[in-house]
Amino acid sequence: MSDTDDHNRAEAAAPADEAGLAPPAAAGAEPASDESGRDAVLRRLAALTDPDLDDLSRGLHARVALSALDTPALLCDLDGTVLDANDAVAATGLDREALCGRPLWTADIWATTNPGAVLGPLVEAAAEGRPDARTLDTTHGDPPRPVRVTVTPVHDTDGSIVVLLAELHDLADRRRAEAIIAATNRALTEAESIFRAMAEHTSDLVCLHEPDGTFTYVSPSARRLLDRDPASLVGTHPRDLVDPDSVEALEGALADAGRRGTEPTRVPLRFRHRNGSHRWFETVVTPILDETGGLRQLQSSSRDITEQKRTEHDLIRLAFHDELTGLPNRALLLDRLEQALAVSRRTLQPVGVLFIDLDGFKTVNDTLGHAAGDAALLAVAERLRAIVRPGDTLARFGGDEFVMLCSGTDGARGATAVARRILEALNEPFHLEGREVRLGASIGIATSVGTADPLQLVEQADTAMYEAKHEGRGRFAIHDQLDQSIALERIDTETALRRAVANGELRLHYQPELDLDTGRVVGFEALVRWQHPEGRLVPPGEFIPLAEETGLIVDIGRWVIAEACRQAARWRVHRSPDDEPLRIWVNLSARQLGDPDLVDYVHDTVRRAGISTDDICLEITESALMDDAEAAARQLGELRRLGISLGIDDFGTGYSQFAWLHRLPLDVLKIDRSFVQGLADDTDSATIVAAIIDLAHALGLIVIAEGVEHPSQLDVLRELECDQALGFLFSEPREPAAFDHLLRGDRGEADPT
Ligand code: C2E
Ligand code: CA
Ligand code: CA
Repeated sequence: MSDTDDHNRAEAAAPADEAGLAPPAAAGAEPASDESGRDAVLRRLAALTDPDLDDLSRGLHARVALSALDTPALLCDLDGTVLDANDAVAATGLDREALCGRPLWTADIWATTNPGAVLGPLVEAAAEGRPDARTLDTTHGDPPRPVRVTVTPVHDTDGSIVVLLAELHDLADRRRAEAIIAATNRALTEAESIFRAMAEHTSDLVCLHEPDGTFTYVSPSARRLLDRDPASLVGTHPRDLVDPDSVEALEGALADAGRRGTEPTRVPLRFRHRNGSHRWFETVVTPILDETGGLRQLQSSSRDITEQKRTEHDLIRLAFHDELTGLPNRALLLDRLEQALAVSRRTLQPVGVLFIDLDGFKTVNDTLGHAAGDAALLAVAERLRAIVRPGDTLARFGGDEFVMLCSGTDGARGATAVARRILEALNEPFHLEGREVRLGASIGIATSVGTADPLQLVEQADTAMYEAKHEGRGRFAIHDQLDQSIALERIDTETALRRAVANGELRLHYQPELDLDTGRVVGFEALVRWQHPEGRLVPPGEFIPLAEETGLIVDIGRWVIAEACRQAARWRVHRSPDDEPLRIWVNLSARQLGDPDLVDYVHDTVRRAGISTDDICLEITESALMDDAEAAARQLGELRRLGISLGIDDFGTGYSQFAWLHRLPLDVLKIDRSFVQGLADDTDSATIVAAIIDLAHALGLIVIAEGVEHPSQLDVLRELECDQALGFLFSEPREPAAFDHLLRGDRGEADPT
């Protein structure tokens, strides 16, 4: 045996898979074919050496045995000459008839210059009893697909090797998967650089950490949220920043994030403010992986949830009723108040809150003792109970404080009448332990006009109560009238907006989106306006926030979807089937994503308009998606199944959880205007935009830049390979008729009508 032979065999025995994809497993461990079925095939092949068989039968048996394998397989003699092959080899481009009687490496599918140098040693090793496998590129398929060749010796009953079985596994799918994973990892790495730039603007606490948790970056918001200097936190561990009670949870979350791949870990943590107080945060820890999938660093975003936590805590700690009087307690009151406020938003009937504080209680307690104090509170509760109207709530708020909640038709106005009756009732003397005692009360009144927050409403009533006390007890005061007039205005706007939907005062304007390659209009963004009866065209910024707060956005949003579908149908008439499809993008609010009927509504509306789901797309802001990411992902998934394209709007201004981005079923990413604005003259913006575009492309998303105003911005966007753009440079949003001619012109034909 020559030196070269020795060398070849050594290489085959320790295969260095040139693609670096598959582990150098023994050939027998190849995963693709059913193990027991394969064993049976090998047994059948072994039986072919039976001397009783004639050549013809032997050939037929071999064919039968090979056919039992799903994967392309060939039978070779110990030199590698092909004896037979199964039908499945056709899928790899091999021609069975042409190959029989010739060595395996002479087939015309191998892309390597000298396939014999790879396959020869493989055959040789198998012939000596060592099964082995190698990956080879082929010229077959579009694009050409690599194939993994496994050669296994077939032993006869005496244990000697009689033939070789060569199996071919298509690696295309696996390679594609590997390529996607590599691209995603690359994107996540790039995401870091954008991440830093964006973290500077976020209101949450956003940090980067070493894998062990040590801060490497802390966003400037640390100053506002915790009164800590972000720079001095770098190099310290978050362990030193959280309450001792939270250390375990923190370390658990860091360890989990390290273990769970790119899955974010969510944990509530109690941080220490520099002034000694505590703040609750909901922290999301996301691992950032390197190219090889190893943990490179951690990203955390923490949102202040102190208020939410406080209410939760109170609810758990307190039962719902006061032990002494049996009245609803503070927690139940706030709960009922919240419900009443929700009803009030629908009925537009304000809720009234009375804060009642006894004037003479402290004296009773101090002079007659606690038992008499308790008796006094019970007696007061009795009298108040007699006054409270059905449907209203009377609660003991604390000590000698009671709160009455008045809702229904005359909630606010009725409150003053109720207050008068209470003052009268409590003015009557009480009989305690054989004595006559005068208590009296001071009352503060607040109404829910303009306030949606129960606690704030009670606080306003409380403040008014102090005014009443200050002015000489035994009276009531109403919370600041000035505030109320602003609030009343808001209520008026809300009422008017409600009517606007019903009376058809809403309009949609359209802003064209251009493809930067072809320069053609490929779609429109639909933007809502309110044609106010007084003549003004109100921009969305002035009414969408109120609509979102009040829930009116669900109705407005439905109208927008329906109108956009009708417009798509109208424009369709102008276009020929050969024209590129025109898509209308509709903005969706977080609140609409929470509407369980959204998907059905979209489906029905598209169908009724006689258009297809290709004609309508939906865009949602990043922050809306993060409000309840799981619910959002579910809704989006269903919309996507309908065939609706989905986009993420204002990208770069929100939570920026890159790891979640590739988990959401998105098609398009819209870069926020603020980044586009700085494009031509500010290198930071250009870096961020470049990184966002690369990231989006790596995730297979189309990138649209918003708010392009100057040709110089457009030049940079083209250079950075941004796909589409919209902005005042091309056109402001305009009423649909303004584009009718353009659409016809786009088709290059005269108007047929
Ligand atoms: P958006 O979704 O980011 O819409 C883009 C806004 O940027 C539009 O303002 C548009 O007129 C403006 N814009 C477009 N190009 C340029 C430009 O080159 N320069 C500048 N300075 N501005 C440009 P618009 O129409 O006032 O809408 C404001 C926001 O109101 C929208 O921001 C969107 O969040 C919301 N909105 C509009 N229509 C709807 C709707 O039907 N539903 C919901 N939920 N929100 C809507
Ligand atoms: Ca938008
Ligand atoms: Ca936007």
